[in-house]
Amino acid sequence: MRGLLILLLISFSASSQALEDPLDVLSITAQLEPTYAAKMIKGKVVVSFEVTTPVDSVGLDAYNVLSLSSQTQGAQVKHQEGKVWLFGPFQPGTIYERGFTYSMAPKKAMYFDRGIIWTQGQGMESAHWLPSRNDTRDKIIFNLCVKGQTPLRVISNGVLEVTQGMGRQDSCFVMEHPMSSYLLALVIGPFERQTQTTTSGVVIENYHRPQDSLYAAVTYRYSSEILGFLEKEIGYGYPWSNYKQVPIVDFLYAGMENTACTLFDQHFMRAAYYEDALGYFEINAHEMAHQWFGNLVTKAHDQDQWLHEGFATFYSWQAIRHILGPEQYQKELYTAAQELISGQSRQALQPLISDQGTSLDYYTKGAWALVQLQQLIGVEAFVESIKSFVHQYAYGSVTTSDFINVVARQSPVDLSAWENDWLRSSALPVDQIQRTLGGFPILAEYMALQEQRGLPLAQKAARFNERYNEGVVLWQEEIVYQWTQAIEGIDQKRLSALLASEDHRLLIVLLNHYDQWGPQDLDGLVRQTQSSNMIVAMWAMWRLCNHFSQDKAIWLRQTDRQTRVQQQPEFRLLWLYLSANGQQPEEVHKTIEVALHGFMAPEYGYRIRSEAFSYFDLIGFKKSSATLAYLLDGSTHHYWRFREQCRANLVRWASQEDLTDLFRQHEGRWPQAVMDFVNRTYPDWIKTP
Ligand SMILES: [Zn+2]
Repeated sequence: MRGLLILLLISFSASSQALEDPLDVLSITAQLEPTYAAKMIKGKVVVSFEVTTPVDSVGLDAYNVLSLSSQTQGAQVKHQEGKVWLFGPFQPGTIYERGFTYSMAPKKAMYFDRGIIWTQGQGMESAHWLPSRNDTRDKIIFNLCVKGQTPLRVISNGVLEVTQGMGRQDSCFVMEHPMSSYLLALVIGPFERQTQTTTSGVVIENYHRPQDSLYAAVTYRYSSEILGFLEKEIGYGYPWSNYKQVPIVDFLYAGMENTACTLFDQHFMRAAYYEDALGYFEINAHEMAHQWFGNLVTKAHDQDQWLHEGFATFYSWQAIRHILGPEQYQKELYTAAQELISGQSRQALQPLISDQGTSLDYYTKGAWALVQLQQLIGVEAFVESIKSFVHQYAYGSVTTSDFINVVARQSPVDLSAWENDWLRSSALPVDQIQRTLGGFPILAEYMALQEQRGLPLAQKAARFNERYNEGVVLWQEEIVYQWTQAIEGIDQKRLSALLASEDHRLLIVLLNHYDQWGPQDLDGLVRQTQSSNMIVAMWAMWRLCNHFSQDKAIWLRQTDRQTRVQQQPEFRLLWLYLSANGQQPEEVHKTIEVALHGFMAPEYGYRIRSEAFSYFDLIGFKKSSATLAYLLDGSTHHYWRFREQCRANLVRWASQEDLTDLFRQHEGRWPQAVMDFVNRTYPDWIKTP
């Protein structure tokens, strides 16, 4: 009841773009029973709604419905053309409530993988597991209850209230404010939790797999600081009751900003541990910024996508500036500008107001458009505009014109040139970008250093010494690069100092570009393999084995027993690849083959499996029945890039004559989806069994 009262206040107070059809859903309350083994979900739903014009029926979006029956006496329901139809007649001015039970077999949006159930609703996919609405403008309060599941943890958008009874424990999530249905999230799995509370009192729940407790603290360490910063910078307190972050192995994207419940790829939890803090920082800040831009204030149409992605990217850069400092922020702007400029030479960029854009348009150009707007109207007017925009459209939906109108009220500056250059034109305003970059002191000197690339070392030595000692890593990286390229060769003392520095950013530049290595130089790095940055250690091992192949066996023996090489799959894979050669005794070669096969198994994430397939191919191992079985399994994986890669391998291998018999043996055992794919792309080779 409390939820409904709040909802009514909101639906009259929030500014919003009008809905396309007469249905306005107010709340969906559902009791859900997902079944992992059957990959199915059934539920009991109560939907509360209004209509804007008199109608006989209204439809909720719902796909692959297996069964449906009404729970409201005398009211009919029917599933037809991707909708659950509720029959009236219905009149404006009345709040209706209808109940029904349903079961569904989700083809997408709800995934059953590695003992975990998880969802991904964008874009507009939640109707694959819960009858809901494919219209971002219809803001709904969702209250989900999930039956049973103990001892697994159930995680969703709202505030958890556990109910006990009849020997069962149900997890019910209550939402205070409405949201678009693509932001629904549900995760069920064996997760552990660490909790933080921000200075403003927001509770952040950080989840991790039981085996990752070491990584969790490092991965999440900036969460509370970022949230506090965003609240101040946007001028609107965190809009939801709490915030949760859950890592998912082989997630479909880097991260997804479901309301108060971000899911992100497990890879970034480990990346933060072995690369540096930045591994998850940007995703953390980006998804958190979406809690305002996207979740609180939502695009009315697809052509306004940049209001989500451009804003979230812009605010992740601001969090970087505030927390990691000006150098990291300026580097971010510079890298993004380079991506835009090179992107434009490869493909035509789209105007920002468009539903045809790519992530380069919506995220990168969108964020740069805001950098330029901030410059144009000044920081103060910009901050006031954002604050006013968010307050006016909180829990509602917006168009780009709504945003421009708010800015125009806060600033007397003429916006028409900015609007044309950044929002309505497909050409990239490169001159403006260059001028802005040149206005940042760190970038101005960085670009000046780059201009010296063609000069002999002697002519720039004094400037290099001075700049190098100032400690700006961006300058140091450029200077180290130019040292590696100098005809005179890098000064041995400098090289030793660099190698001893353990500064992974400089070491990576060195390992990438220097090719005059002496064995003792690299030996030191490999000895540090156990302690140094993982990327550096892997690069050093690679370089060493390639530069001094005559001693390769010695290097590999030295590193074989190191825990890291043993335990980190990426490292082990590289080690195996470097270890293999044609002259090995049969049993050694076989051991490597078996080990590589192990990494193709479904228990590993797709990144590892994909590398295992590539190394296997590069070494030239003969494909066996087991290899083919792993490849077939990968060919139906939920992550499309990996699936496509496996299918491409399948077609490529199928054309190798020595594999014909092997493929014939497997013919009847191919998954139907793979058969359909092969029949489409390779019709002459295989016959449908
Ligand atoms: Zn985003």
